[in-house]
Amino acid sequence: MKINIHEIPRGGFDLEEMQSSETLELGRDDIDFKTPVTIKAHVIREYDNVQIRMEVAAKITYSCARCLARKEQLLKKKIDIIKSAGEEKVIDLTQIARDEIILDYPIRFLCRQDCKGLCYKCGRNLNERDCGCEQMAS
Ligand SMILES: [Zn+2]
Ligand SMILES: [Zn+2]
Repeated sequence: MKINIHEIPRGGFDLEEMQSSETLELGRDDIDFKTPVTIKAHVIREYDNVQIRMEVAAKITYSCARCLARKEQLLKKKIDIIKSAGEEKVIDLTQIARDEIILDYPIRFLCRQDCKGLCYKCGRNLNERDCGCEQMAS
C-alpha cells in the first residue's frame, strides 16, 4: 500500500488492506498467524507534513518460551507518524506497518511474566501444580 503524497486529497483519506504474514515476512519459529494482518490508515497532508495514523491487527498463537503452552494473542498496535513531504514522494504504508510490528516483538513470548516453566526432572508444568521434585540448588 503505497501512497504518493501529491495525490493526497484535501481532507485526507482512509485506506485499508489485508496482508498475509508471509508477504510481510513476519514469520517467527515460535508464532503462527491465525489471521492476515489488517492495516488501516488515515492519511492527511498538512502543508509540508504528512500525518499518518495507522492501526494494525492480527491474531496469533505463540508457544511460551518457558512452559511451551500454546497461547492466543491479538497483536494490535496504533501508529502515529509524521513524514515530511520534502523527504519522500512515495510512502509505503505496508512497510511502516511491518517495521512497527517487528519492533514490538518481544525477545521471547511468555504466557505470563512470572511463568514458572517446566520441572527439569519430571516435565510437569509448574504453573499448574508443584511436582514435589527436589529442585536443584542454584
Ligand atoms: Zn508459560
Ligand atoms: Zn518435577
